[in-house]
Amino acid sequence: MTGARVVLPHASSALVPQLLQAGNGVEAARVKAAFLAITDTSQTLQQQQQQQWNSTHPAVLPEDEKMLEEDRRCVKQGAGLGGLNAEELFALEPAQCVVCRLTRDRTIPKCIASTDRLHWAARTDHAHYCRDLIEDSDDPGAVHIIDAKGFSPFHYACQRGNFVIVKYLFHCAGADVNAATQAETDRFAPLHFAAINGDIKLARFLMESGAAVDKRDAKGNTPLILAAQFGHLLMIHFLVQHAADIAARDQKGNQALAWAAYEGHGDCVKHLIRAGAMLDNIDSQGTTALHWAAIQGQMAAVEVLLDAGADASLRDSSNQTAIEHAKRKKHTTLVDFIQRHLRKFPSGLTPGSGLATTIMLQLTETERLKHRLQREWMFYLLPVVCNLAMLASLSYMNWMLSWPLCLGMVVVMFAGGTPLLFDRTNGPDFDGNTRNPGMTTWFLCGMVLDVTIAVHRMWNFMLTHEPALGVVGLSSFGFMLYWYFRARMANPGYLEMGDPQDVLRTTHAEWSEAPRNLCTTCWIIKPARAKHCKICNRCVSMFDHHCPWLNNCVGKNNRAAFMRLLLAFTTSAICLLICTFNFIQLATAEIIPWSHPFMWTFSKMLMAAQQEPVLFFLFLYTLSGVCFGATILLQGIWLASNGLTINEQQNWQRYEWLKDDNGDYYNKYDRGRLRNLADAFGISVSSTPLDFSQRAAFWV
Ligand SMILES: [Zn+2]
Ligand SMILES: [Zn+2]
Ligand SMILES: [Zn+2]
Repeated sequence: MTGARVVLPHASSALVPQLLQAGNGVEAARVKAAFLAITDTSQTLQQQQQQQWNSTHPAVLPEDEKMLEEDRRCVKQGAGLGGLNAEELFALEPAQCVVCRLTRDRTIPKCIASTDRLHWAARTDHAHYCRDLIEDSDDPGAVHIIDAKGFSPFHYACQRGNFVIVKYLFHCAGADVNAATQAETDRFAPLHFAAINGDIKLARFLMESGAAVDKRDAKGNTPLILAAQFGHLLMIHFLVQHAADIAARDQKGNQALAWAAYEGHGDCVKHLIRAGAMLDNIDSQGTTALHWAAIQGQMAAVEVLLDAGADASLRDSSNQTAIEHAKRKKHTTLVDFIQRHLRKFPSGLTPGSGLATTIMLQLTETERLKHRLQREWMFYLLPVVCNLAMLASLSYMNWMLSWPLCLGMVVVMFAGGTPLLFDRTNGPDFDGNTRNPGMTTWFLCGMVLDVTIAVHRMWNFMLTHEPALGVVGLSSFGFMLYWYFRARMANPGYLEMGDPQDVLRTTHAEWSEAPRNLCTTCWIIKPARAKHCKICNRCVSMFDHHCPWLNNCVGKNNRAAFMRLLLAFTTSAICLLICTFNFIQLATAEIIPWSHPFMWTFSKMLMAAQQEPVLFFLFLYTLSGVCFGATILLQGIWLASNGLTINEQQNWQRYEWLKDDNGDYYNKYDRGRLRNLADAFGISVSSTPLDFSQRAAFWV
């Protein structure tokens, strides 16, 4: 698409010599205000300036008003603003050229041939020279001239991403948005440059100006394929939204998905699959995206592809599978990963992960339940069986047999279950269907069984000897259960999922300045203190940590419940510990000479274990609980009193909001120790009260 040449009004350049003193920022801004007045003909220059500048500034000279009238006439006569807005017009003025200012009065170098001057100006960001050269040129096709590299000035402007020059050359000089570079090796169209640079603003302008979205370069690459190669997720999204052909192949038959996999851009692979890319598409060599990722040793891409159900058994033209390629290239961790995946999901169905949700949703309720139980039966069965077996063996077996058995079962329970907890496929999906109970069952089974044993055996002892401990211990046990369910079932503060379109609408500068804060899973700019939880696969406000015992995140909404849970747990465990300790002493007083309660020797302990095996085991079990609970509680209190979350303490260097201007630690959320603590425990002085109004859909 080409347009006629447009000569712009030179209004501001007439004002510049009179008003602008070199390097004077205030004056420069005044010129700008004066120039903006041209576009708004309802006000005089004087009125505008009076609004923007206070009376300390000198009044506008009568000549300025005259010149302004002249400029307005020029605009009215049809020169127009040429499709450029006032800001962009202003950026065309020599006085605004950053390059000139930095290089001090630069002129066009003598060595540049007259035919190459426009190329040079576009290549070096001199917008004003571009304008001068176009307006002084007699050649109406000046903008189409190709230099030795095969580039036109417009190509350079697109490659540089200089939006003002791009717009000027398009609107005022008639540049063609679909013309490709001339060298045999590249043949890039302007949109290819935008795709390579990930420049959404430019891409949007080109698309709106009539650029073809699936234009091919010399190697048959479409802009989408290039965006996938360079890993520009937002650009991929933008192009897909503008109907780019996701199945387009380059000359070797590779699609965008294969390129993203080859280069290892896991997030791009994920997005392309979500947008409908074919998983097991083969190129001319029979190579799939999974093959490419395996050949290159790209773990992130392999993970996403397998997760989405890519077929690992496919063979390419050399009769090799992905795993054989990985072995040949000696990517050992990758080989391990694929093997583990194949063992776990031989059928290719991978319930539990984010992408697999779509597959899960296609199943019937019964099928879903079956898959879920196949994966999670151990979570429910193991702790119940282990706890009952421990109780039975302690009660009915010789202690020399029952003790090793019990210790073994504790080890099995924790060592066997812990890896499952950190399994990526373990978290809840958006439908809440595949959330497993995490360590919930172990935690609860252990606690409830222990307290049952304790109350059963020591009820009379507690009533007569330790009534206070009994009351405190049992009531805090009740509180513990209450806050446990509160913390587990609360929505920890998941942030609303964003619309990718909104992200694209924010200006180029906004998101390119803060790419770290952009979550491309939730499509939101994360607010301060928020973090994306990989297990929940959601962004959580005021993220603390993902608690395996709850299998829920601890965030803004359930942090207080979590802290209260810790406090209640530790209190009840300490009470139980003291009670058990005293009971054992009393019960064995006739057999074991307890000269002093703290002078336990190994032989005395063995005797106690023999006499009261159940309670002595309970004692040790509770002791470990106290150590564990108290450690976490003290750590939590210490961090909370400093106004920090666990995540912030570990990663504060990454977060701008925890640093001062020199990059040193400075916490602006620190409201003083006592108030911080009150906040953390959700006591009423808090400015962020507990919010249980939003319950998550997944219950225990
Ligand atoms: Zn310049
Ligand atoms: Zn997120
Ligand atoms: Zn989480």
